[in-house]
Amino acid sequence: MQISKKALGISPSLTLGIDALSKEMKQAGKDVVGFGAGEPDFDTPAYIKEAAVAAIGEGKTKYTPASGILELKQAVCDRYKNKFGLEYAPAQVVVSSGAKHSLFNTFAAILNPGDEVIIITPYWLTYPELVKMADGVPVFVEAREEDGFAPCSADIEAAVTKKTRAIIVNSPSNPCGCVYSEKCLREIARLAEKHDLYIVADEIYDELIYTGKAMSIAMMSDDAKARTIIVNGMSKAYAMTGWRIGYTIAPAEVAKVMGSYQSHSTSNPCSIAQYASVAALTGPQEDKARMVEVFASRSRLMAGLINAVPGMSCREPEGAFYIFASIRGLIGKKYRGEVITGSVKFAELLLENELTAVVPGIAFGADDYIRLSYATSEENIKKGLARIEKFCREVE
Ligand code: PLP
Repeated sequence: MQISKKALGISPSLTLGIDALSKEMKQAGKDVVGFGAGEPDFDTPAYIKEAAVAAIGEGKTKYTPASGILELKQAVCDRYKNKFGLEYAPAQVVVSSGAKHSLFNTFAAILNPGDEVIIITPYWLTYPELVKMADGVPVFVEAREEDGFAPCSADIEAAVTKKTRAIIVNSPSNPCGCVYSEKCLREIARLAEKHDLYIVADEIYDELIYTGKAMSIAMMSDDAKARTIIVNGMSKAYAMTGWRIGYTIAPAEVAKVMGSYQSHSTSNPCSIAQYASVAALTGPQEDKARMVEVFASRSRLMAGLINAVPGMSCREPEGAFYIFASIRGLIGKKYRGEVITGSVKFAELLLENELTAVVPGIAFGADDYIRLSYATSEENIKKGLARIEKFCREVE
């Protein structure tokens, strides 16, 4: 039977794959330490769960407007006003089933076949696939670790063609854990204006910042605000990955199209999760603040341990909950007679021999790196890094 060319062109999610394999091994009784997680290891705060239970009790269990309930759109607008001084109208907000879905709707709304989207490498592995799903063409611009994984504006400009429609800005970044400086955001905003590009600003980690200040690229100028489609959601800041609520804030005409598009695909996002999200955004923020503190201390611990491993090195992350660690010093060398040809081989050998799961950097477009998530306990971080050190000491 036929499978469409478009579907065949989409790669499976490697991060979910490794996570699934390590969970499988755990279920089989193996003592695996998993650094693959893309979600907080904290529970959803109680007040959010209670709001969901109340919503069920009150019968808020029916279809909602396709683009989301007004209370949640208003809470999103209030958040952006209070946090960044950015004013938006609820009509500019579209609530979707997770930020991934928001990004899917975004590219569906703005791309025509063959339109190019600039993606900074190392990138979150879903971006190129989402662009392709919307018949767009991903164009990669490499950011270097020496520059804090921030892109250089000359490199971005060199990648712009007549077909370029958008650039994706993901700060704090998955997988790099970097936060772009104001200077960098200004440069990207300037180029977007010069070449008339949309800025797709994935700000899903904007509550998880340990050094530096949270900033939205939409703050850089009125022009930047007018051409930015902000993508955000509840998953990371409120430990709500399973609730599936994300949102976009876009120019009104784009928001309208996205709402229509969504109305014919998934209809509205889950009503109960939307009411819980209103509570999350408007309720007490202490749980979130505590979680950020714990992440900050784990990130320092993990970075210190990685930098003590022979052949590995990393920057201390400024945000999100990942460390993108270089394994350049190990590639081409041998572990128990097997050549470490790249990040996949490294991850496989490590999982098989030292029961420790990491995500190969190739998934993010950088084969001499691995991604380690510190959304796991300090005890696991120490145990897993001791195993990684043992593994790397055997490499010759
Ligand atoms: N954007 C980035 C950079 C992410 O890392 C993720 C999740 O891993 C998402 C968006 C999507 O989050 P969700 O669909 O759970 O809202």
